[in-house]
Amino acid sequence: MPFSTLGLCDPLLKAVADLDYSKPTAIQKRVIPLILSGKDVIAAAQTGTGKTASFVLPLLEKLHQEHVEHTLRGKRIRALILTPTRELAVQVEASIRQYGKYLELSSMAMYGGTDIEPQKQRLIWGIDIIVATPGRLLDMAHQRALHFDELEVLVLDEADRMLDMGFIDDINKIIERLPQQRQNLLFSATISDDVRALARRTISDAVEISVSGDIASKPKIDQWLITVDKGNKSALLSHLIKEQVWTQALIFIETKHGAAKLVSQLEKRGIAAESIHGGRTQVVREQILADFKSGKIQFLVATGIAARGLDIGDLVRVVNYDLPDQVDDYIHRIGRTGRAGAAGEAISFVAKDNFRNLCAIESRLGHIIKRKEFDGFPVKKIVPLSILNYVPKNKRT
Ligand code: AMP
Repeated sequence: MPFSTLGLCDPLLKAVADLDYSKPTAIQKRVIPLILSGKDVIAAAQTGTGKTASFVLPLLEKLHQEHVEHTLRGKRIRALILTPTRELAVQVEASIRQYGKYLELSSMAMYGGTDIEPQKQRLIWGIDIIVATPGRLLDMAHQRALHFDELEVLVLDEADRMLDMGFIDDINKIIERLPQQRQNLLFSATISDDVRALARRTISDAVEISVSGDIASKPKIDQWLITVDKGNKSALLSHLIKEQVWTQALIFIETKHGAAKLVSQLEKRGIAAESIHGGRTQVVREQILADFKSGKIQFLVATGIAARGLDIGDLVRVVNYDLPDQVDDYIHRIGRTGRAGAAGEAISFVAKDNFRNLCAIESRLGHIIKRKEFDGFPVKKIVPLSILNYVPKNKRT
């Protein structure tokens, strides 16, 4: 099915062709026609599925269609996309520019941590689409630099991450200010109870779709695990990096102390690595991240918390050096790899203590993750095979 059947105008089709997208991804096929028909949508989709284009393309189409008769008043916007992080805001706005390059619509990324004045100045004549983090957007509204009375569409992107990062109050305050008549779109890697509650408050009658409900349907991610005794993990990691000639890995670990220790253990074995954790300043974290993205740093050890607010972009491999406690974290982490059009690998180190977490993860996936073994790393504490209908004690009724 080609893009041309989706109801998008020629300037958008041309921009998509410039990017060499041959056909729409699964989520694009389902979501684009829904948005164009004016429906509210809740979509379970991770990064890497092409989700950004699935809302940006129809949004541009709609705003473009109405552009001729619409003169935007000062300090007004027509569409608002809320994102959890500055990095994601910048990335989504860059996509808007790419897809909208043959259209005459204006857009802007708005986030905190930078001077507010230039952003205010740009708002004076009105802007079609704003991509914003919740805090800065509220500041703007409080300062009466921005009014929502002409808003037509609200997009909540990566809603689960926004809730994880504690933005719920800000989001509620923003929604209170929006016109009742609007189109609502919510995207989230996982639809947790909290996300569902947010959706219920925001959206009354949405079409709900899922393309990643089971991640197993994302064939581009090769998931496998190795059972390993705790004390052998760093030796095993070094072995894999060397033997399989890895060029890149994002390695998730539980504690900041553990992160520092692992970096020095890798270095002793001749592998250069860096770490990001809560003990490092935002400036240092961003520099390390930029170096990781550019390939200057090949191996990045990150605590889950530190990595949560960062947009790491395209990755070939993630390693759960420590298996996360929460299933949603597992899904997020592996969703960072295997982005559209590229293969990815998600590897988990599983020790006996992780058995219950493993059961919960594999139950959610609906299948057992394939296991691999490596010579030289015999396991003393055997990890049994999961029970797939496992329900954690606190969720049993
Ligand atoms: P996203 O899921 O929005 O983070 O997109 C992941 C990547 O997929 C981005 O680099 C997009 O440029 C790319 N992409 C989006 N749609 C398509 C498509 N139809 N064909 C190929 N690549 C795509």
